[in-house]
Amino acid sequence: MFNSEYLNELFERTKERNNSQPEYLQAVEEFFEAMDFIVCNDPDIEKYAIMERIIEPERIIKFRVTWVDDKGVINVNRGYRVQFNSAIGPYKGGLRFHPSVNESILKFLGFEQTFKNALTGLPLGGGKGGSDFDPRGKSDDEIMRFCQNFMLELYRHIGADTDVPAGDIGVGFREIGFMYGMYRKIVNENTGVLTGKGLTYGGSLVRKEATGYGLCYFVSEMLRVYRNDNFEDKKVIISGCGKVGMHAALKAQELGGKVIAMSDINGYVHDENGLDLNIVKMLTEKAPEFTQKYLEYRPSAVYESNPTKMWGVPCDIALPCATQNELPIEGAKSLVENGCFLVAEGANMPTTIEATKYLQHADILFAPGKAANAGGVAVSGLEMSQNAQHYPWTYAEVDQKLEVIMSDIFKKAYTEARKYTDHRNLVVGANIAGFMRVYRAMLDQGIL
Ligand code: NDP
Repeated sequence: MFNSEYLNELFERTKERNNSQPEYLQAVEEFFEAMDFIVCNDPDIEKYAIMERIIEPERIIKFRVTWVDDKGVINVNRGYRVQFNSAIGPYKGGLRFHPSVNESILKFLGFEQTFKNALTGLPLGGGKGGSDFDPRGKSDDEIMRFCQNFMLELYRHIGADTDVPAGDIGVGFREIGFMYGMYRKIVNENTGVLTGKGLTYGGSLVRKEATGYGLCYFVSEMLRVYRNDNFEDKKVIISGCGKVGMHAALKAQELGGKVIAMSDINGYVHDENGLDLNIVKMLTEKAPEFTQKYLEYRPSAVYESNPTKMWGVPCDIALPCATQNELPIEGAKSLVENGCFLVAEGANMPTTIEATKYLQHADILFAPGKAANAGGVAVSGLEMSQNAQHYPWTYAEVDQKLEVIMSDIFKKAYTEARKYTDHRNLVVGANIAGFMRVYRAMLDQGIL
């Protein structure tokens, strides 16, 4: 499978030890594939058991969260924090509240986060956490009680210089606010222990837009370098209409692109003349599902109830921004058949391994999430800096820093890709660039 025998043996062992964790194994497999050449040519990686150490989380915390709903019923959920790697800085990564959350998903996310954070150039280690709690259909009071009880356990494991969680699927300003309030009350201090905070209590401007905007800044670099082109008049399709998808759509439009289709869990809407993003934004702010309701405002648009079918809409650029494995091989084939030339991941691991390979073989420009969606954690890092110096930066200052960081991440991935493989292979480039920083820090700090 890999050219390196060391990686083959290690992957077999990893499969045996984690056979019920498909998402985690998928992330490790993709990483090993990208690292194969480096591992074959650097014996120190095996000698110092770097791969064994780097794929194993430093710590996994699993806890019970008990909370009472509006009817007085007592509910029990599982909470987690996966503290993956702190070689280059405090653990950093989001919290996800979704019924699908389990150890496999959080391990894959924490693993990816380690390299993504390294790519930003900021001193941030990798982590991820969350709960199988489903925020859908819950009242604000229920959300508050859940968040407070979640923090009642999590607080003892985090800190501004230890582990700094943020949001992810199902966790936005509201949830971060409730958790931060509880943390402050227990610990009796105001520190940058969470990012993605509200602007009234230490949040950073541009944080809510950062992942989506950063994705478009990254795509702009790809268009410029590989095609001497830009977003102007490009037809863009985007899956997911949450924090990442919505802001990617707004930035793509601002840069001259035309967003012609977007999806949520209930389907997708398509309008060849471009979606009215003001309506999409207004609808998603009211309730999560917007696709069907969009037709009430724009009857000429087309609605389809299967979101995966959106990959068949003819487009130039596709931005998967919803969730893991949402872009399967059939979707990749449809994209290629219908003229798409660039796919950039806003979500974490939205493209299956098979689909990624298919797109690369078809010579589609492809940006992996660990590079292209790093804008969120980058601005989280900037939020930590602002909190530490007790001084906020302006919108323009943060936005400009974000643009520089995304362009720098592209440059790092491109440079490593050119050095080790084809200059278009940003999967290999991003993995190597992220790995090298963590690897060197681990070597410098001894056997731990
Ligand atoms: P949100 O919960 O804000 O939004 C998720 C969106 O995806 C919703 O519109 C949801 O629809 C939709 N969705 C879920 N499943 C599907 C599906 N199978 N097909 C189509 N749409 C679907 O999450 P975020 O925007 O924060 O995160 C999205 C992705 O980006 C995740 O992979 C996350 O890990 C990643 N990411 C997020 C960052 C951030 O800063 N928030 C940073 C880096 C990566 P509905 O509302 O109907 O459920």
